[in-house]
Amino acid sequence: MSERLTIQIQPQDNVAVAVHDLPAGTVTESGVTTLQAIPQAHKVALRDIPRGGEIVRYGVVLGYAKDAIPAGSWINEHMLDLPESPSVANLPYGTNLVPMADLPDPPRATWLGYRNKTGPAGTRNLLGIVTTVQCAAGVVRAAVERIRRELLPQYPNVDGVVAVTHPYGCGVAINAPLAPIPIRAITNVIRHPNFGGEIMVVGLGCEKLTYDRVLPPEDITPENVLTLQDWNGHDAMMQAILDMAEKKLRKLNLRTREELPLSELLIGMQCGGSDAFSGITANPSAGYAADMLVKGGGTVLFSEVTEVRDGVQMLAARCPDEHTRDRLAEEMTWYDDYLAAGGVDRDANPTPGNKKGGLANIVEKAMGSIAKSGTSPIVEVLSPAEKPTRHGLIYAATPASDIVCGPSQVASGIGLQVFMTGRGTPYGLDIAPVIKVCSRNELKNHWFDLIDISAGDVATGEKTIAQVGTEIFNFILDVASGVREPYSDQYGFHNDMCIFNPAPIT
Ligand code: CA
Repeated sequence: MSERLTIQIQPQDNVAVAVHDLPAGTVTESGVTTLQAIPQAHKVALRDIPRGGEIVRYGVVLGYAKDAIPAGSWINEHMLDLPESPSVANLPYGTNLVPMADLPDPPRATWLGYRNKTGPAGTRNLLGIVTTVQCAAGVVRAAVERIRRELLPQYPNVDGVVAVTHPYGCGVAINAPLAPIPIRAITNVIRHPNFGGEIMVVGLGCEKLTYDRVLPPEDITPENVLTLQDWNGHDAMMQAILDMAEKKLRKLNLRTREELPLSELLIGMQCGGSDAFSGITANPSAGYAADMLVKGGGTVLFSEVTEVRDGVQMLAARCPDEHTRDRLAEEMTWYDDYLAAGGVDRDANPTPGNKKGGLANIVEKAMGSIAKSGTSPIVEVLSPAEKPTRHGLIYAATPASDIVCGPSQVASGIGLQVFMTGRGTPYGLDIAPVIKVCSRNELKNHWFDLIDISAGDVATGEKTIAQVGTEIFNFILDVASGVREPYSDQYGFHNDMCIFNPAPIT
């Protein structure tokens, strides 16, 4: 078998992507000779494209040629005009509902998790100490260091202690129309499935985010909340936090993993540092794993509004009813308005690294990004940080920013996140493990001990999407069951809890 040089996704595409750096004069599979060097992951024109002509990849118009492009040319991000954003009005729905029977069968039907009284099970058994305000963050972080050192070794069934510190809580317009978004994130993270229902909230005492905004009255008790301003100096304050933590650790230590159906598992999908391979290898493989989970009764969130906006019609086609379609349109419109208020549009999303990785614009990025949702119907649409009420594939609207999407999905209750990357990121979360899947074998070779799984063999033709998708599925279940740790957890590489706050800071 001769080495694969380019990948064309759909027969109607007039571009293909270079599998490796291709020198000028390379004759590609489609018979086109490259007129110049084509960098890996970048596009080569398969036909002459006139000025103003469509540039088509994934069977989708990525943009219009600013000038005539001869066959064999390198097409870079400077050569396309961006098409109009697709309208969200009256999108057809239910026109692409893949029947459950057509989804791939999961190779395993159970996993080992920590069952909760309600909602999804935990993938880890953690003590989560949640601050109501950033002012308390330093104290809580210092206390958590001491809890880890002095208390945790006596409670072997507890996997860890997490200081949930975030930038919200005071100096904010707490009654602003958009304030419910960050408040919901904090409210829901207090009850994250990995915290086992043990509530531990630390406030300062004079902040705007009072306990009653994040807890029901019956939970605002001395066992659950601690106010720093109530304590007489450093030593008493620290001791109070340690005493409270110890009571929680005693209860958490009684929890054990048990065999559970996939319906008790809730995970999230995200991508970041994407390249033009993300949509060919890593994201479709993750989508295959998502399909397996959904078929087995599990729940999968995918997000990142600006990275699906250009494929909204494809997502609407996968909504089974009018209500879900309307909710999808509502979230897209909200984000369009949010970006417009900030003086930008969706094409502000791609990064220099995305472009270096061959992604010409947001349309091309979106087509790759959507692939991680697999093919199953979208059964629910959530606003940022909302908890799902259904099982299956769910669209949870969040910013596409890696550092904000992660905490939003955590607030929605994910037990772990699968993170696809083309350029490479050491991203991790301390509340939910993050599995890193890369799109190219070059990255896996470069970051051999940072990336968990490579989907690069799909590009070279050595593996199928089904094979890598099954590997990802098994990796998800192993990590969820606590028998395997992704690299980010082995090293303790954990990003901050950057919750989404679109509301004014005062
Ligand atoms: Ca992202």
